Amino acid sequence: MGLISKGAKCSVTGCDNDGVRSLTASKVDGTGVGIPHGLKKAILCKEHYKEWKKATKEDRDTEKARFNRF
Ligand SMILES: [Zn+2]
Repeated sequence: MGLISKGAKCSVTGCDNDGVRSLTASKVDGTGVGIPHGLKKAILCKEHYKEWKKATKEDRDTEKARFNRF
């Protein structure tokens, strides 16, 4: 939480925006937000964080979320 160091860039491939959120990469993997494989932490810019939130919301709709609660 709030561990973005100054100047950290978005982890999404091809995106060069400043990061606003740091997430466990496994939470981002498979949501359609394209981060490189092998990352532990994914840093997302405002735009991609929004995209991720939207994607995880869709997951919840399809009941996938319950499998992410380990
Ligand atoms: Zn981005």
